[in-house]
Amino acid sequence: MNKNLRKAVIAGNWKMNKTRPEAKALLEAIIPLVANAKDKIEVIACVPFTNLETAVAVTAGSNIKVGAENVHFEKSGAYTGEISADMLSEVGAEYVVVGHSERRQYFGETDETVNKRTKAALAGGLKPIVCVGELLAEREANITEEVISRQIKLDLADISAEDVKKAIIAYEPVWAIGTGKTATADQAQEVCAFIRATLAKLYDNATADAVTIQYGGSMNAKNCAELLSKPDVDGGLIGGASLKAEDFNVIVQAAVEG
Ligand code: PEP
Repeated sequence: MNKNLRKAVIAGNWKMNKTRPEAKALLEAIIPLVANAKDKIEVIACVPFTNLETAVAVTAGSNIKVGAENVHFEKSGAYTGEISADMLSEVGAEYVVVGHSERRQYFGETDETVNKRTKAALAGGLKPIVCVGELLAEREANITEEVISRQIKLDLADISAEDVKKAIIAYEPVWAIGTGKTATADQAQEVCAFIRATLAKLYDNATADAVTIQYGGSMNAKNCAELLSKPDVDGGLIGGASLKAEDFNVIVQAAVEG
């Protein structure tokens, strides 16, 4: 397995934070800091729906790509409060987070709906960042691999090898998200390697080698270098630390260093 086959991807997940003026100010602070990462790694800001247009305008001409934090699986229709892939593409989003544990935990997201949303994102020309991860109780019961394998199989069901290469998988242990508890670099590597081996079984080695697998869960300026140095950790999905330009930049620079 060869890490050089893949571009590292650092994506911020802003969650439900930042008004439009705040989003503009944060992106304007990040843009010059990460300009040197151009052509080396992918830098993405996944922002609330209301910030998408602002983010696309502010990042135009920079090396920051914009993503959304969720997408509905139908093209259009009577789904009050939902946003379709076509709407996201039209506003200029290129990526979308799918199946984040907060959506699974608070909004009834299941592997079935994650699969439908992933397919809808791909059909609408978006690159999905598909989140998987075990609960603390599942890790303690030694069923992490079982849980991850099930999520990968169900979330990617009926998605072709060609399409899966456009997706990013984010390994986000639920017990590490927003808690300040990080998986050790070895724990992150172990599960990211397991995800790649699962992809190799479901597809083939070349496909598994091509898919970017991120770690997410309290990644910050202090722990990022060790996590990102691991052979199967191709980047990070960053929550809290993506809201501070300097901290986000430290993580971007760590990914540039490899
Ligand atoms: C996330 O929101 O995907 C995340 C990893 O959050 P945090 O970095 O704050 O744990």
